[in-house]
Amino acid sequence: MSHLTSNSTTENKASHYDVVVVGGGAAGIATSASLLNRQPDLNIVIIDPANCHYYQPGWTLVGAGVFKAKQTVKPMADVIPKKATWVKHAIKYFKPAQNRVILSNNQTINYEALVVAAGIKLDWAAIEGLPQALGRQGITSNYSFELAPYTWKLVTQLQSGQAIFTQPTLPIKCAGAPQKALYLSADHWLKHHRLNNIQLGFYNAGDTLFGVKEYVPALMQYIRKYSVNLFYKHNLTAVDANSKTAIFTLTDSEGSQKNIEKPFDLLHVCPPQLAPDFIRNSPLADENGWLSVHSDTLQHTQYHNIFGVGDVCSTPNAKTAAAARKQAPVVAENVIHCLNGNNPTVAYNGYGSCPLTVEKGKIVLAEFLYGGKVSPTLPSWLNEGTQPSRLAWHLKHRVLPAVYWHGMLKGREWLAKPLLTQRKL
Ligand SMILES: Cc1cc2nc3c(=O)[nH]c(=O)nc-3n(C[C@H](O)[C@H](O)[C@H](O)COP(=O)(O)OP(=O)(O)OC[C@H]3O[C@@H](n4cnc5c(N)ncnc54)[C@H](O)[C@@H]3O)c2cc1C
Repeated sequence: MSHLTSNSTTENKASHYDVVVVGGGAAGIATSASLLNRQPDLNIVIIDPANCHYYQPGWTLVGAGVFKAKQTVKPMADVIPKKATWVKHAIKYFKPAQNRVILSNNQTINYEALVVAAGIKLDWAAIEGLPQALGRQGITSNYSFELAPYTWKLVTQLQSGQAIFTQPTLPIKCAGAPQKALYLSADHWLKHHRLNNIQLGFYNAGDTLFGVKEYVPALMQYIRKYSVNLFYKHNLTAVDANSKTAIFTLTDSEGSQKNIEKPFDLLHVCPPQLAPDFIRNSPLADENGWLSVHSDTLQHTQYHNIFGVGDVCSTPNAKTAAAARKQAPVVAENVIHCLNGNNPTVAYNGYGSCPLTVEKGKIVLAEFLYGGKVSPTLPSWLNEGTQPSRLAWHLKHRVLPAVYWHGMLKGREWLAKPLLTQRKL
């Protein structure tokens, strides 16, 4: 791996690569590694300004005191594949007609093929008063590496009062994560005989507990077990840290809206999410701001040498690392075809997974394809289907972090062989 920093002598010269990868997160690193495993002499550059790479699925367990935050982070330099170049800058804008990207330092990079893996924007500022309130007055979020340890601190300290957990409008990454924080906190309070003194509220901007209906009955058992009050169509719009008040906008069945104020002792916020600004304002975006790709081949709908992978895509799958793990080999295979002047051949089927941590030691493992079709990976004799499972907890706690760091990020495509596309191209 070579690493070009702002001191590099090559800067400001236009450089040229076979493949430019935008973003060194879960999807960008996995795709780069899969590309290099297929064709080791490919000239690949990964462009990402971040110092660190995070295993975000671990943050739920940091917020529950099961992992330490340091188990979920590595220096970016340690995860960039050895044969790839890393340019530590942000992309400023795209010039797709010229096969070119422009970086924050105004450097130009030309490409034969472009892979966009820029993730999702966490829009903390969309909630009035929130950015300055995070990390104090009982206000936290497992959606941040810095704050997940504060969640655990608050959970262990709270003896009584009001605990509020929020979920914004979808799509968000890991749509189950706001509930996971709720269940694991409630489990701790139950086991420490405090739950009778803590009132739990789950305030959801949507109108369902989980998008795939087969998993809802098992989740509802836990809602009842922990005596959680469920509120739908309640969207968190402001936070007053001084008075410890959360302000929700409630939309009724006629569409009229009113504000509701709720006092809290602990507030776990899942921020609203949208496509990153430089994607939303680019010629690569669809009408909702996401990178506009075909849902099967992940090829851009307009530019044949551009592909998308991970949370940034317009595809209607669950935005998860599990989805990126299945998408990366598809994009790698199709990019190689594209570099050889051919059409894409393989397709992604919409697989996504959400390990719903309903208590410490048990998980309802939701796995599904496009259209919410349930699709378990484990054979039926091992798989507890839509019910809570100890084996699934073991998977999340012990197995999946290793699969992520040593499998997915190294381009080892375990249980992720791409399928041939059914579409005539
Ligand atoms: C609390 C929480 C719990 C989760 N739980 C699970 C789970 O249990 N299972 C699961 O499968 N998934 C889970 N996820 C979701 C999973 O982490 C994401 O879906 C996954 O990380 C998406 O990968 P990505 O590469 O698309 O985005 P990311 O991993 O976020 O990477 C995006 C990269 O793009 C870079 N970037 C941004 N802007 C630019 C720019 N202008 N130029 C260059 N680079 C840029 C960023 O620096 C970043 O490195 C969870 C997420 C959270 C937050």
